[in-house]
Amino acid sequence: MTKRQDSYPFFCSIGCNIHAMMKVLVTGGAGYIGSHIVKALGERQYEIVVYDNLSYGHPGAVLYGRLIQGDLADQVLLHDVFRRERFDAVIHMSAFIVVDESIRDPLKYYRNNFVNALNLIETCLQYRVYACIFSSTAAVYGIPDKVPVTEDSPLLPINPYGASKVMVEQALHDVSISAPFRYISLRYFNVAGADRLTRIGQARKDATHLITVSLRTALGKNNYLDIFGTDYPTPDGTCIRDYIHVDDLADAHILALEYLRKGGGSAIYNCGYGHGASVQEVVNRVKYVTGIDFPVRYADRRPGDPPALIADASKIRKELGWTPKHDDLDYIIRTAWEWEKKITTTPQTHP
Ligand code: UDP
Repeated sequence: MTKRQDSYPFFCSIGCNIHAMMKVLVTGGAGYIGSHIVKALGERQYEIVVYDNLSYGHPGAVLYGRLIQGDLADQVLLHDVFRRERFDAVIHMSAFIVVDESIRDPLKYYRNNFVNALNLIETCLQYRVYACIFSSTAAVYGIPDKVPVTEDSPLLPINPYGASKVMVEQALHDVSISAPFRYISLRYFNVAGADRLTRIGQARKDATHLITVSLRTALGKNNYLDIFGTDYPTPDGTCIRDYIHVDDLADAHILALEYLRKGGGSAIYNCGYGHGASVQEVVNRVKYVTGIDFPVRYADRRPGDPPALIADASKIRKELGWTPKHDDLDYIIRTAWEWEKKITTTPQTHP
């Protein structure tokens, strides 16, 4: 089924910037991170086609371009789309992301995250689409020996979610050797926050991430927030993560795309700010930003949580010139807070 969305934003060939020439397929572009990437592309006049099965995405989150509702397992539709459209590049975002679920149902993760990625890569090769940005994760590192973690740290995932991403990275690498195909793998750290204008944000009702769950607790949707583990070898005993605003992450995708367009070679980059906040610190900031003192319960450790995950992001800063604009935990929380309030008072925000 092909669903047409709003028309393209208007642009003309006179005086418009060169990005207008590029036509990009964004798989998973109706999801939380994907929709912010589509926004960043649209603001820069790229031509965009979103391919999303809408299992978690929302048509209303696609602010630019056209939405095609489809699954990467549907090879007939995928081929049809590649035959009709002539893409210059692909941004591959669609994947399952819940670590617990990946442990309970690993094949679901290997099928969607790995096998479907192979379908996409194979289709790219067939239609000579030789530039790909891949949405990877810090989960590829497992429990790193050293933080901040660099891209050349060993890949030792501790769950099928992380393993499925390592497998795709391996496939991309091997294909980039055998074909004139180039890719950038972006390893995301803890992505949070929402659109400055509160048009898009995390819309999953079952979201498990700390900032979203804390904000929903502040709104009274949960009775309390569980802090998972207080005996980690960190200054306050709770886990440390590198929280990055989703718009800064979206900008990294634009830079990666431009780098490939200019002929840059395949590469892998961490996407984080290079410093972390503990769970307790995040909870304190959420209470401060919202002005709500919600109940907290100190619970056991959650299985599979590394004590600290912080990006060494010097490579992407140096090689792609990535300069984050929102390295501010309060801003991340504030934008997410505005979004959570909006979807609570107007649940039809994403019909
Ligand atoms: N966390 C927590 N309570 C929650 C959700 C998360 O204490 O309700 C902790 C989690 O154990 C981890 C950190 O917050 O130490 C970040 O977890 P999240 O799920 O946001 O991201 P992850 O790092 O697992 O990708």
